[in-house]
Amino acid sequence: MANKAAINKKDIIHLLEEIAIYLELKGENPFKISAYRKAAQALETDTRALSEIDDWSSIKGIGKGTQGVITEFLNSGESETLELLKQEVPEGLIPLLDIQGLGGKKLAKLYQELQIENKADLQAACENHQVADLKGFGKKSEEKILAGLENLNAQPDRLPFDAVRGVRQNIETALSAMKDVKRFSIAGSMRRMRETVKDLDFIIATEQPEVVKEQLLQLADIKEVIASGDTKVSVVIEDHYDVSVDFRMIRDDAFATTLHHFTGSKDHNVAMRQLAKARGEKISEYGVENIETGEVTTFDSEKAFFKHFDLYEIPPEVREAKGEIETFKQPHPLVTLDDIKGDLHMHTTWSDGAQSIEEMAQFASEKGYAYIAITDHSKFLRVANGLNEKRLREQREEIERVRQLFPELTILAGVEMDILPDGTLDFDNDFLQELDYVIGAIHSSFSQTEEEIMTRLFNAMENPYVKHIAHPTGRIIGKRDGYKVNMEQLIQKAKETHTILELNANPKRFDLNSDWIKLCQEQGVKITINTDAHSKETLEFMKEGVGIARRGWLKKETVVNTWTLEELQAFWKKKQE
Ligand SMILES: [Zn+2]
Ligand SMILES: [Zn+2]
Repeated sequence: MANKAAINKKDIIHLLEEIAIYLELKGENPFKISAYRKAAQALETDTRALSEIDDWSSIKGIGKGTQGVITEFLNSGESETLELLKQEVPEGLIPLLDIQGLGGKKLAKLYQELQIENKADLQAACENHQVADLKGFGKKSEEKILAGLENLNAQPDRLPFDAVRGVRQNIETALSAMKDVKRFSIAGSMRRMRETVKDLDFIIATEQPEVVKEQLLQLADIKEVIASGDTKVSVVIEDHYDVSVDFRMIRDDAFATTLHHFTGSKDHNVAMRQLAKARGEKISEYGVENIETGEVTTFDSEKAFFKHFDLYEIPPEVREAKGEIETFKQPHPLVTLDDIKGDLHMHTTWSDGAQSIEEMAQFASEKGYAYIAITDHSKFLRVANGLNEKRLREQREEIERVRQLFPELTILAGVEMDILPDGTLDFDNDFLQELDYVIGAIHSSFSQTEEEIMTRLFNAMENPYVKHIAHPTGRIIGKRDGYKVNMEQLIQKAKETHTILELNANPKRFDLNSDWIKLCQEQGVKITINTDAHSKETLEFMKEGVGIARRGWLKKETVVNTWTLEELQAFWKKKQE
């Protein structure tokens, strides 16, 4: 159940919506269902943080019943209403909600009229054309459902970074608590910050492999044990996808070389081995062997390992045999998390975020940031409770109040402004000039032609107030490709107009990707790494964002949110010249 202390407004909205879905599946009366939806909606539009709400009944749209559910959840972190519903509605129905076009209402009908309770039932009903015969469905929607079912079953060959993040975190927490684990690290493509991974690899230094092995086999959610030797344990962990995880246990003196070996990439390792061979040496997992004498040298860190070959430490993110060995003969510092001075894209309860402006300021200040931009959605984006001119002006007053509380933090009053399908912007220049920070973003009409998309982007970039373009391609890794951007043109235009491009650090997006930001840097285009945070936790995505930036070889100078506010302001001025 939810961690009581960490409950935020989004969790409550989610709970209310979940209850509504279950009620719908159960076939409850529409008034009851709509009461939960209304309450969720009311909370979504209320701009206060959870801690600021003391009288729930004063919120229009929240009745006695829903208020009871909310208070119970807040006090206990649980909801009996939801738990009871979960017992009444077949478990197998819930995953079916992920099928496109199959909402609660339709699914309820399938459940009630065709007794469909799970994937297999639905598959059979479609194949027998029972679904097509059902009122409100038809042949077309039956075909769609069948196609959707296929996607539902499919485990992709490579899993999106974000899809395995949780499994990785749980394992790292468990490893940290094992007292016979001397040190450990993630390896493989996840360590190199690839956007998709085949499996997870962990390297563990231990003197007690048998003990650690037994503990590994006790990890949560193990679906299958593939191998359990004294040097290697392989398991499949059941999560949203099945995730294969390999653990390699070695002595501490071989940790650095084993880690290097299993971090890869394969091509990087080949290049390193050639380098060694030319010196009469051989690299293995256990160290570096002098071919003539047979003597093996071990290292206490990867840094020492690289130094042995007269190289500066090559960051895992660039170990792809793309010139790193040549480059790192000299120091070549890439941007680090410590360089980051602020975050220029985040949401609050004023649009679709979970936390108030004050809370976001508090978290940013705890992180030691010098500046942040509050950039809630603009009015076009109704689903996200986007702000119009009037509400943005009201928000600015609130920002002004919060500024007094955090004098060391500069809070920019901004907006993530929609670029409309016809290419116009959601606000006119008279209004935009009132704001400290304007982001241009596309959230609609993804299927437009490249020409239409580029016209929209160009319009935003030519606007003197638009400082950066958010998530420039709109892709969601493994889910959607985004709209048709001509990237060369975009980069060229960014250069001409001094518009900054975003590296959206949300692991679902990583947009722009590491290849494009590399090209940006080569072309002299500046990048801003932003979390696009909608809650406290997601402010932490900066770490992943910096990882992608490093994978794109970005240096500190390219990343504008490593600059001081004064440097930033000087750059923004260029736009208006
Ligand atoms: Zn956005
Ligand atoms: Zn956003």
